[in-house]
Amino acid sequence: MSRKVHVKSFGCQMNVYDSHRMADTLAPGGFQETAAPQDADLVILNTCHIREKAADKVYSEIGRIRVMKEAAAAQGRKMLIAVAGCVAQAEGGEIMRRAGSVDLVVGSQNYHRLPELVARAESGEKIVDTEFPVEDKFEKLAAPNRDAIRARGVSAFVTVQEGCDKFCTFCVVPYTRGAEVSRPVAHIVTEVERLADAGVREVTLIGQNVNAYHGQGEDGATSSLGQLLRRLARVPGIWRLRYTTSHPRDMDDDLIATHGELGALMPYVHLPVQSGSDRMLDAMNRRHTRADYLDVIARLRAARRDLAFTSDFIVGFPGETEQDFRATLSLVEEVGFASAYSFAYSSRPGTPAAEMEEQVPDAEKSERLQRLQALITRQWHAFNASFAGQTLDVLLEKPGKLPGQLVGKSPYLQAVQVMAPRAMIGSLVQVGITDIGTNTLFGTLAENKAAPQLAAAGA
Ligand code: SAM
Ligand code: SF4
Repeated sequence: MSRKVHVKSFGCQMNVYDSHRMADTLAPGGFQETAAPQDADLVILNTCHIREKAADKVYSEIGRIRVMKEAAAAQGRKMLIAVAGCVAQAEGGEIMRRAGSVDLVVGSQNYHRLPELVARAESGEKIVDTEFPVEDKFEKLAAPNRDAIRARGVSAFVTVQEGCDKFCTFCVVPYTRGAEVSRPVAHIVTEVERLADAGVREVTLIGQNVNAYHGQGEDGATSSLGQLLRRLARVPGIWRLRYTTSHPRDMDDDLIATHGELGALMPYVHLPVQSGSDRMLDAMNRRHTRADYLDVIARLRAARRDLAFTSDFIVGFPGETEQDFRATLSLVEEVGFASAYSFAYSSRPGTPAAEMEEQVPDAEKSERLQRLQALITRQWHAFNASFAGQTLDVLLEKPGKLPGQLVGKSPYLQAVQVMAPRAMIGSLVQVGITDIGTNTLFGTLAENKAAPQLAAAGA
């Protein structure tokens, strides 16, 4: 029987990947994806618990979907609401107590059981499944079919590592995603080969702590992330590799060297530091100092001169003084970031920082956040402006807003708009940058438009 499923992702790229895999796993049972929740027989909200605001969004979204569910019921049609992801994992059955319209709560390690859980929910059972099972979720999830891969575009995410053992004092991830687990190299290679075969040209390896990757290698020995990247660079059709999110402590010599060796590895590294103050880094249990972080940046720059960096910052962590905050500003000045995410500290139930005294008042957090964001925005604009008149390799991904226009990505994840025929989607081209917009670069196809990687790959 053909039915429709709508999956909405909140939060990180890992959730985007999980949402795709949930849809893939439900497809053999007759569920087709729809972008319109009001038409769906099953709506899955794949949620994020990282900050209070993210978690609160889920309840307002459930309210919105409940109205659609009631409208469907008035037409004699049944709609199921499922809550998945980290809020499901953290709050479990509490969600159904707060929102009676929810039929199914499924934790982040149990998506492979969705077909069975949905079948039970369809027969009227209210289900909460948030156990951490012993079986390997990834290998039980169905692989996407060719059409699904093509519909998702030429750039794909692949989760290679999940969970975290670091226990930063502010963070819920070790509780919602569990202990660190790495997928075996052979399984990742098979998945990437399938993606490449269907037209994917860029793969971003993802994990909460991706550079702590230590999966079983094809020879049985443990593989590092650097080794995995070198292996994936040999997959025919894969021209670009990226990885996120890394922890400064796990940035080992091998991974740093990989940046100097692999042309396919994009020169853009997301390396969260959270604070520039050693006192705060210690209280956050980050297990590295400001000097350690700066040393990693210097070693990476020595391996590849054109590397650009992004980061994550938290302002207003308990006990943060103006002096600590200024240390963060000075670190940003010292590194010079291409862009960065910054957040006001959000107290998360069950984490050690939530119990700390000296919580910083909200007004002070917002004032510091504004100052930090102003500095980051200046660096971001300066970084983009530095490409005016330069030529960039661009992977063309999709049609742009104007007729005849395509949008692609530069090595530094900048959106680049260029006039080019639709048939060029999936091509790697050289673009001369003519104008710099706020979020986008504009350019024209260079005369010799095939990018060097393409020529080298013989494509
Ligand atoms: N694993 C990564 C790392 O080690 O930095 C990041 C994972 S987390 C999903 C993404 C970002 O959310 C963090 O880098 C941090 O800046 C932010 N974050 C996590 N917990 C937070 C909290 N309680 N309040 C504010 N921001 C938070
Ligand atoms: Fe959270 Fe990242 Fe720290 Fe792990 S390393 S606890 S995911 S911030």
